Amino acid sequence: MLKESFVAELADIVGDSHIRRAEGDLVPYARDATPLFSRRPDVVVFPGSAAEIAEILKLATRERVPVVPRGAGSNLCAATVPLSGGVVMVLTRLNRILEISPDELLAVCQPGVSTAELGSAAAAHGLLYAPDPGSRTVSTVGGNIATCAGGLRGLKYGVTRNYVLGLEVVLPTGEIIRTGGRLWKDVAGYDLTRLITGSEGTLGVITECTVALLPMPATTRTGVAYFTTLADAGRAVAEVIRAGIVPATLEFLDQTCINAVEDFAGLGLDRTAGALLLFGDDGPAEQAAASVTRIAEICDRMGATGYTLAREVAESEELLAARRCALPALARRGPMTILEDATVPRPRLAEMVARIDEIAARHDLVIGTFGHAGDGNLHPTCVLHPTDEAAIARAHQAFGEIFSTAIALGGTITGEHGVGAAKLPYLREQLGEEHLALLRRIKTAFDPAGILNPGKLGS
Ligand SMILES: Cc1cc2nc3c(=O)[nH]c(=O)nc-3n(C[C@H](O)[C@H](O)[C@H](O)COP(=O)(O)OP(=O)(O)OC[C@H]3O[C@@H](n4cnc5c(N)ncnc54)[C@H](O)[C@@H]3O)c2cc1C
Repeated sequence: MLKESFVAELADIVGDSHIRRAEGDLVPYARDATPLFSRRPDVVVFPGSAAEIAEILKLATRERVPVVPRGAGSNLCAATVPLSGGVVMVLTRLNRILEISPDELLAVCQPGVSTAELGSAAAAHGLLYAPDPGSRTVSTVGGNIATCAGGLRGLKYGVTRNYVLGLEVVLPTGEIIRTGGRLWKDVAGYDLTRLITGSEGTLGVITECTVALLPMPATTRTGVAYFTTLADAGRAVAEVIRAGIVPATLEFLDQTCINAVEDFAGLGLDRTAGALLLFGDDGPAEQAAASVTRIAEICDRMGATGYTLAREVAESEELLAARRCALPALARRGPMTILEDATVPRPRLAEMVARIDEIAARHDLVIGTFGHAGDGNLHPTCVLHPTDEAAIARAHQAFGEIFSTAIALGGTITGEHGVGAAKLPYLREQLGEEHLALLRRIKTAFDPAGILNPGKLGS
């Protein structure tokens, strides 16, 4: 239980209208997009400035009260579940785009701006904000930076960290620091911008983001190829890269996902296919068209059972929608989906998919797999019932085996969703004790009282 005097001081900082304590108001902040994890906070605050955040964190450090920063709460690793109660700090009031600079190819925004909103603001100036998570209409730029979100354009454009130039960050002890800035070249000091990117709200609260933009590609072209097995699709991916093509999009769905998407969206996909490869490229019209045509030819040569190329932008968008709706489509198959995020070196993709299928069958589970074939990032997704405790236990066992397999194949337990509370038990196997001990020392340097998002990274 929080002391009344603590809550009164919080209310003084943010104002009575920006604090919630009623039981019903706390419920939505007990969870994020991760099933099986929930814990109600004691209080939720909605600060309106870095100065208020600094005051809150000073107070929390003094009183040893946990604080969990939260953007849209769309993460898939229980990163915003307040495991020890305390304060959930929601950053969505900090929602202003402060600057789009076509001269410097950058944007400055507050952390609560949605990814899609920043993308649209950049597009209005003929510029591209490249990070493109499937959740972009809801996720925030601050949340994307704190998780180093990836997305559908990762192969060609990289992930969020490749675009973060500078941050304003409030430390748990209340100091406000700036890391990096507007420069593409700046090696003064340790690279704290990179350290805070992906730190999952455990080192500081991001209050301003300076991100790089690119000239908007003239056009995007997309195509889809079908294969008998995902292993065949994996071999085609390897061949595309070997041919020197680095397309903007190279995504796959397995048969379970194809059928789920078709039931959900009725896009006319080939339900008989064992796997689907969605490919796309952007750039000047002729170049983008030539690129997708070459990819289609390679798929054909590598045994595709069929392919189609989108004739116009609207058709391209429909194909991309097939990939984007994979999770909601699978979610309709059962009341609960556990979506995971293992990643392996690209040449091991087909092997990893085969291992996932074998593990799912052995544990008698429905696991559909989709993901970013271009960067070896798979999202095995288990569909089950929340009251079926035996199946949930089998799913935990199965995912443990999937993560161990990913590590054994030279991969990682998370390519883009983060560690949060959900993956923490598996981190030691990947990083080892000495590495974990260093993470803990870094965490202590930033957060000596251990108040910021406890029970997650650095714990
Ligand atoms: C349908 C769906 C599709 C998705 N697709 C993708 C995808 O393609 N790629 C991908 O990478 N992820 C994807 N995700 C996961 C999720 O959207 C990302 O992790 C996203 O970056 C989270 O942003 P958020 O604003 O919701 O952050 P939250 O979930 O609120 O928070 C995530 C983490 O960031 C911290 N945090 C948030 N804001 C701040 C801040 N201002 N300062 C410090 N720490 C902060 C939190 O403490 C937490 O640790 C998807 C999720 C869903 C539901």
